[in-house]
Amino acid sequence: MNTIDLRSDTVTWPTTAMREAMYTAPVGDDVYGEDPTVIALEAEAAAMLGKEAGLFVASGNMGNLVALLTHCGRGEEIIVGKQAHIVRYEAGGSAAVGGIHTNQIEVQPDGTLPLEAIRESIRVENDHFPRTRLICLENTQGTIGGIPLSVAYTEQVGELAREHNLKVHVDGARFFNAATALGVSAAELAAPVDSVTFCLSKGLCAPVGSVLVGSAAFIKEARRSRKVIGGGMRQAGVLAAAGLIALREMTSRLGEDHANARTLAEGLAQIPCIQIDLSRVQTNMVFFDLHPEARLTPAELTERLKAEYDIYINAYPGKARTFRAVTHYWITPERIEITLDAIRTLLA
Ligand SMILES: *Cc1c(COP(=O)(O)O)cnc(C)c1O
Repeated sequence: MNTIDLRSDTVTWPTTAMREAMYTAPVGDDVYGEDPTVIALEAEAAAMLGKEAGLFVASGNMGNLVALLTHCGRGEEIIVGKQAHIVRYEAGGSAAVGGIHTNQIEVQPDGTLPLEAIRESIRVENDHFPRTRLICLENTQGTIGGIPLSVAYTEQVGELAREHNLKVHVDGARFFNAATALGVSAAELAAPVDSVTFCLSKGLCAPVGSVLVGSAAFIKEARRSRKVIGGGMRQAGVLAAAGLIALREMTSRLGEDHANARTLAEGLAQIPCIQIDLSRVQTNMVFFDLHPEARLTPAELTERLKAEYDIYINAYPGKARTFRAVTHYWITPERIEITLDAIRTLLA
């Protein structure tokens, strides 16, 4: 287990505490609402985000889809970032399964959708138009660098939504990274919005799962939407047990990952043929470019790091010279130094 895998925080292995908790977890049939460990996870997650209720789902993708299916009917519309995970990386599920139309806005470098652009995208009542139901934010915004959206911005979007009788959903795959970076509680950051999904299986290290939170009435409907897409699970307590450890032990340590990302970024900035904007390293993601004059091509760098050092870093999908490194629980400060030494040596 000396592999240094910086490709994503989805690669995190469950911790020993998680494996032990999974082994001993009390379980029941969760479709009957009888799994005590799932019930505990849903309640603790909801409490941490200051919402009434939670729903354990198989993935972040499923959490978003269940949220959209619950907030919107067929032919209705969401306002969402063009670079959002929901648009780019969820196989078009909103359209394929929900008949839900997307009205896409360019995500700004700070991760926001401009309030004016949102306002202009909201449809008036007219037979020609889909009906706008929902605004979707992503926090942290992944594709543009793991940038956290502030409480103030989230409040402004919440207000705009209420003015127009719309709901707000946050794809918070890395919601606790955002709260950590902003120095606020997850509940404070979630307060202005109607629903949030967050992943247990990324920086929080659980092997499987996400939780969707919102009002009790919303979650009651969401349970039904989850059933529609086959997401009702039986003795899911074995998975929820790891999720409980994730909530109790992992949400409060994400600052370490952010500090390690900062060290990695600052080290990379010292390497002549690497270009990096340090101001954009705000959570656990480090985006950097390899200069065309570098000794190695991006593909060669990836290949040699893997073959000679057991270090995994990939070019970002769709980008020729841009790499993304993501820090997480298994990337210790020592492993950051090993990585920097390896890159320095290969590019010297
Ligand atoms: C990873 C991710 C998801 C989906 O999570 P899965 O558990 O991989 O389905 C959703 N949104 C964002 C921003 C993500 O990074």
